Amino acid sequence: MYEQGVIRPPSEAQSLLIRVTRNCPWNQCIFCPAYKGVKFSRRTVEEVKQDIDNMEKEYASYKNTIKSAFLQDADSLVLKTEDILEIIDYTKQKFPGLERITTYARATTLKRKTVEELQQLCKAGLTRIHVGMESGSEKVLKMIRKGITPEDIVEGGKKVVEAGMSLSEYIMPGVGGRTMSSENAIETARLLNQIKPDFIRVRTFAMHPMSPMRKLVEDGTFVTMNDAEIVSEIRLLVETLDEMHTYFSCGDFSLNLLMQVDGYLDEKKAYMLSELDKFLALTPEQQKAYALIRRSSYMQYPIEAVQNEELMRKILPEIEKLEKDDPEGFHKYIETLKSYQLPQPQTDEWK
Ligand code: SF4
Repeated sequence: MYEQGVIRPPSEAQSLLIRVTRNCPWNQCIFCPAYKGVKFSRRTVEEVKQDIDNMEKEYASYKNTIKSAFLQDADSLVLKTEDILEIIDYTKQKFPGLERITTYARATTLKRKTVEELQQLCKAGLTRIHVGMESGSEKVLKMIRKGITPEDIVEGGKKVVEAGMSLSEYIMPGVGGRTMSSENAIETARLLNQIKPDFIRVRTFAMHPMSPMRKLVEDGTFVTMNDAEIVSEIRLLVETLDEMHTYFSCGDFSLNLLMQVDGYLDEKKAYMLSELDKFLALTPEQQKAYALIRRSSYMQYPIEAVQNEELMRKILPEIEKLEKDDPEGFHKYIETLKSYQLPQPQTDEWK
């Protein structure tokens, strides 16, 4: 038996999951269901080693083929650097085929580590850090109670880059709502241009039905954005990002409407802008039809699919039906489809 946490990045789907802490030490972000209702705790090095021994036994027949490991849960670097080094070392002894070890970390935690500590971790094998940045806007960060400032994001991110580690920054178009959309795009791009991470991973915002953000919608503080508005926000973001050697990725997360907007900014920025423009040039009916076919399955479709008249003849009555009694009916339906893809809280206690 060994413990495992509830989430890991999609790029770590094949990785050995080693739980070094439980849940999230911050746990206050109002959009995030993952750890609500469950408490944070540190695990001892001995406990983690016991888990690694058990995994070694369970995976004995193919343990040398396992190439990557991910340290869970939300902010592993809160542990003492010497403890993480001991865990990494032990993992590599037991799984000698490992080529990559990665983890999540909060910007404030990275800020507290010295570059020398991060270099030590990198040399030991922790070669990539995944950071949930969400937004570069101070106002948006405050509204979502992220508990970090733009300065924390830049300082923490730059330290990782300086230490020679690979850095993945996760951002959330739409999380500022309609009123802060431009600010969310421009401020996020401004910070990313300073940090120059290896990856920018796009996580289009979707609201969990239990999220306290519902209250902000009810009192009019937060206005949710439709797909066309979020595509416009992503366009402004891509336009503002420098042509740096950073991989901009919509392709690894199906809540992103246009998953083909994916590639190195110094190679494919013009292509990515042209795909975003292609969608924005569609009629409002075609945009809704595209959103409906994309969000009703995990299939990807070229934008041109909605120029097919026969397809539109089938889809338009469905859209009309959704809007018959409520002009917002289509938007609400898409919001519900999007929320199905979010992780569920582990308890009903999300206040
Ligand atoms: S988004 Fe990250 S930091 Fe915020 S509560 Fe969720 S896991 Fe914790």
